[in-house]
Amino acid sequence: MRFRTAFILIALAWYSTAIVQGKRCVFLTLDTCRADRLSCYGSQTSKTPALDELAVNGLLFENALVTAPLTLPSHCSIFTGNLLSHHQVRDNAWYRLKSTAPTLAELLQKAGIQTGAVIAAFPLERRFGLARGFDFYDDIFAREGKKGEPWYGHRPARFERSGYEVTEVALQWLRENALAGKPFFLWVHYFDPHTPYEPPSPFKERFPDQPYDGEVEAMDDAIGRLLAGLKELGLIENTLFVAVGDHGESLGEHGNNGHGWDLYQPALRVPMMARLDGVIVPGRKIPDPVQPTDLYPTVLEYFGVEPESTIDGKSLWKTLAEQAPVPAKPVYSETIYMERERKTPGEGIFCIVAGHWKLISDRKGRPMEFYNLEQDPGETKNLVTDKPSWEQAHGYAMHLLLLNYIKEAEGEPGHAVEELDPETMEAMKTLGYIK
Ligand SMILES: [Zn+2]
Repeated sequence: MRFRTAFILIALAWYSTAIVQGKRCVFLTLDTCRADRLSCYGSQTSKTPALDELAVNGLLFENALVTAPLTLPSHCSIFTGNLLSHHQVRDNAWYRLKSTAPTLAELLQKAGIQTGAVIAAFPLERRFGLARGFDFYDDIFAREGKKGEPWYGHRPARFERSGYEVTEVALQWLRENALAGKPFFLWVHYFDPHTPYEPPSPFKERFPDQPYDGEVEAMDDAIGRLLAGLKELGLIENTLFVAVGDHGESLGEHGNNGHGWDLYQPALRVPMMARLDGVIVPGRKIPDPVQPTDLYPTVLEYFGVEPESTIDGKSLWKTLAEQAPVPAKPVYSETIYMERERKTPGEGIFCIVAGHWKLISDRKGRPMEFYNLEQDPGETKNLVTDKPSWEQAHGYAMHLLLLNYIKEAEGEPGHAVEELDPETMEAMKTLGYIK
């Protein structure tokens, strides 16, 4: 009997390894990256050849909207497949990912896939809960460069590091772990476009008045080095590449700067693309609204691993591999960041986007703003007071859905800490989150 059990276990282990054999995924998250700053999304000023190469050889989602305009909540959505109402990480620093649902890395690790992560900034440091499931989680931001290393002398900081250093650490991990033909999942986080905007040369000189754009180009340059390194290692073929922003950045639109303060498109609309040569037909662009939560089931389906729980995200694998339509669903976003910052409880806002319609409400669910994104992409004509448009656009139905979402979001206990430890407080101040 014992022999039989052992045989079954060995057979199961062999089967799960065989399913994922040879499969690999390089998963890039682009912090604070607006979609419209990439040339593949139509930017006329900044040039992003590395990300363009992924897009041209793969599939680009034109309307990917994040679940929250904040680093930790948004990354928790990416790696749990859930909206904030279900993972309950509603702000940076004060929250920890405690949900019992397995993360993407946990499920992949369990299936025998090697998992690595290289993190560029403190908001994703291991104490906040995203290291679960990673064999390797490199979150050392204060590593001192040596002369001759690409990041030497560049932007020394205790709480973040440049894309060049991130790329080097990622390539080192690949050299040590990816060459045995074993399947792997590698997450690489780039933080360059985040404040403070201090692009290195020559990007600083190219954008003296738009340093944010210089940072986006510098990040792209670092990603270019990663892709070149992958080519050298022979790891372009049979690798699924995913690139996705965690949120955008307001640059003066609606009187705002930065992120966390509002739910307008500059803060919510991010790049999202995938490439897998020989499987994903190159050059396709998908206009339907999607969310980074959809990547969790998509990557699982690619590896042939079953999700263990119900999640909010919907797999886009058939859209990528079989050109199937995107599963239709509304997308949700929220932020309560300003409540703590301005000490104004109840000021948080929520939004729902269905097709090209967008509704923003206050924390009690009262409609505040309603836009037709097709006719008014800059969100300048608020239709919420325009009764005929409101009714014609099924705004009321969207309102009911949003009310449901808010009820669910507020119904779960949060995972916030009472106060920040001194290091977290210093990091949040350095990165501009706390004044
Ligand atoms: Zn971020």
